[in-house]
Amino acid sequence: MSVQQQAGAGAEALEVWIDQDLCTGDGICAQYAPEVFELDIDGLAYVKSADEELLQDRGATTPVPLPLLTDVIDSAKECPGECIHVRRVSDKVEVYGPDAE
Ligand code: SF4
Repeated sequence: MSVQQQAGAGAEALEVWIDQDLCTGDGICAQYAPEVFELDIDGLAYVKSADEELLQDRGATTPVPLPLLTDVIDSAKECPGECIHVRRVSDKVEVYGPDAE
């Protein structure tokens, strides 16, 4: 089963947010998906908007572009701080990340 099928993608829009309180600042997410994640001058990772503007509010969410879904999921899996959360837009249920079932 592909990642897209697991996520129910095609129909299901996903969004991602970071819990900066747990971010170690190692930058793995920004290496995997630089279009979505970036380190700010405080040394912590933040998500970027669809037009790649850095969203500097803690816990800000951004849509996961389908072509980047695998990179975002890999980021969540590899994140040492376990602080990248990927959830469905429709019901806010986490599908990848520390709170996913
Ligand atoms: S991979 Fe996780 S801990 Fe590392 S910079 Fe990104 S959000 Fe922070």
